[in-house]
Amino acid sequence: MNAFQNLGLEDPILQAINDLGFETPSEVQEKSIPILLEQEQDLVALAQTGTGKTAAFGFPMLQKINVDSRTTQGLILSPTRELCLQITNEMKLYGKYYKGLNVTAIYGGASITDQAKQVKKGAQIIVATPGRMKDMISRRLVDISKIEYAVLDEADEMLNMGFYEDITDILSHTPDDKSTWLFSATMPKEVSIIAKKFMHSPVEIVVGTKNQGATNVSHEYYLVNSRDRYAALKRLADANPDIFSVIFCRTKRDTQKVAEKLIDDGYSAGALHGDLSQNQRDLVMKSFRNKQIQMLVATDVAARGIDVDDITHVINYQLPDEIETYTHRSGRTGRAGKTGVSMVIVSKSELRKIKSIERIIKKQFEQKDIPGGMEICQVQLMSLANKVHDTEINHEIDPYLNDINALFEDNSKDDLIKKFFSVEFTRFFNYYQKSKDLNVEAQHSSSRDGDNSSKSTRYFINVGRKDGFDWMKLKDFLREVLQVGQDDVFKVDVKDSFSFFNTEVEHTTKVLEFFTDFKQNGRFINVEITEDKGRSQNRGRGGRRRDDKRGRSRRDRRSGEFNGQSRGRSGSRRGLKENRSEKPVGSRSRRSNSGQKSANSVSSRPRRSRRK
Ligand code: ADP
Ligand code: MG
Repeated sequence: MNAFQNLGLEDPILQAINDLGFETPSEVQEKSIPILLEQEQDLVALAQTGTGKTAAFGFPMLQKINVDSRTTQGLILSPTRELCLQITNEMKLYGKYYKGLNVTAIYGGASITDQAKQVKKGAQIIVATPGRMKDMISRRLVDISKIEYAVLDEADEMLNMGFYEDITDILSHTPDDKSTWLFSATMPKEVSIIAKKFMHSPVEIVVGTKNQGATNVSHEYYLVNSRDRYAALKRLADANPDIFSVIFCRTKRDTQKVAEKLIDDGYSAGALHGDLSQNQRDLVMKSFRNKQIQMLVATDVAARGIDVDDITHVINYQLPDEIETYTHRSGRTGRAGKTGVSMVIVSKSELRKIKSIERIIKKQFEQKDIPGGMEICQVQLMSLANKVHDTEINHEIDPYLNDINALFEDNSKDDLIKKFFSVEFTRFFNYYQKSKDLNVEAQHSSSRDGDNSSKSTRYFINVGRKDGFDWMKLKDFLREVLQVGQDDVFKVDVKDSFSFFNTEVEHTTKVLEFFTDFKQNGRFINVEITEDKGRSQNRGRGGRRRDDKRGRSRRDRRSGEFNGQSRGRSGSRRGLKENRSEKPVGSRSRRSNSGQKSANSVSSRPRRSRRK
């Protein structure tokens, strides 16, 4: 007996569910499906992204409509084209055993005549964005006067996007006795107004805690001066060589600007916002999915449809105007059972917003320091070392080995290693060695439990995510082996194959002694003090040294700062730039073919490494 059968679903749907491999209903499905199947009932369901809402309304709708009729019976409104297409595809999959079923997507940016044709063929279900739907109604290209079910999906987001008028207008063309099902991640005032105005004593379902963020996401904030926002963003990226992230800005303009700057600085970045053509947006999304773009800079609206599972970091370049929106942002990471980090770059004047968000997400933020230059160098160096270590040897090189060996005849292995790493490291080191400290001390900040950086020691430890640690597990592990208290290990930063953490200075000897000879699973676990936290000695000097003219090769963002080997992407080589506001060494540029600066263009050149 299938768990879905218990909900009252019938054969054609059960078969489709079987094909899809769904084993158990999600909470929102379990709660809504029986109600919607049994009664003609209005419903308000609050559930986060990724909880299976499409099936929660899709299964009952499919089972209830009459596929033998060609009348439009179900209307699903959704905020973006991308979501609209996603829902349409899902509905087609769910309904594949209903012969004669026609689900049509209606959205802006594509031919209205084609869409009208699809509708005319007899679409029992229309999935639409409000703008285009309203347009088609006014042109009499659709008839929704006989619909029985109206779904408002991601209602909060549709209202955020200013679709209130469109929605009310659309609903005024539908019969009064239809059922309305509203799905939303949050319940701001505007949504309750819609519910009151257009729904008849709806049943309310809440999945999980209202407005709660994903549980496997940790929340961090970084306090900087507003003018250092961009420099801070780059440091965060540089300190996380394998970052795959969405960066949120408040406006389309900022989104475009930040993306352009990143590209200019050599990062593999792209912009996603409403001023781009559909085609441009599709291209950017495609590159992001392929991970050609490592940092996607987006507006809240445009990012709503992003359905990518392995995003490692969400970075709030600016906090959203509506703090509820933060939940949507952070929900982009930590999906599909993975852990994620949501970072906020915040200036002093916005600090109070952090407190408000904590109340909403019911979780604490951790205040962290923007990594210093030397720490970033260490991360990058170790990241490169690990990649070299894990690289499979390409035997196409064999014929040239004699020549290469002859060249290095007089170098020891030690020398060779040093030389090899210096190729990339020196340039990076030169760049970062005089970088300033970007952190701002919050006045009256009592929230940090004794982690005053001047009195603490920062360590490097040679275990990381690969060894099964996340920051919480590593903290627990360290506290346990070192036998120290709850707050004695802090600022734990876990990277792929190594990590950092702090203790009070008084514990330094203990830590170092403990780890001089500590083996776990047959492997030495090594801890070293990280020297420099990037606190600058010569802030006043201004200006960054320009890199020597020949050292122009760029690091590959995707594969780590110093590494050009993996994925060997195209892009022009760019030199370090001099800028008071700190232009870190980006990776090789990912400009478009034309060389035009465009945050949306994606190089289509062959993926060939241009490094020497
Ligand atoms: P939401 O609309 O709440 O963000 P979706 O309806 O888009 O979530 O579902 C997210 C993903 O989970 C989709 O890929 C969907 O196919 C899958 N899914 C939905 N229900 C189930 C289930 N019961 N078991 C397994 N996977 C499911
Ligand atoms: Mg959805």
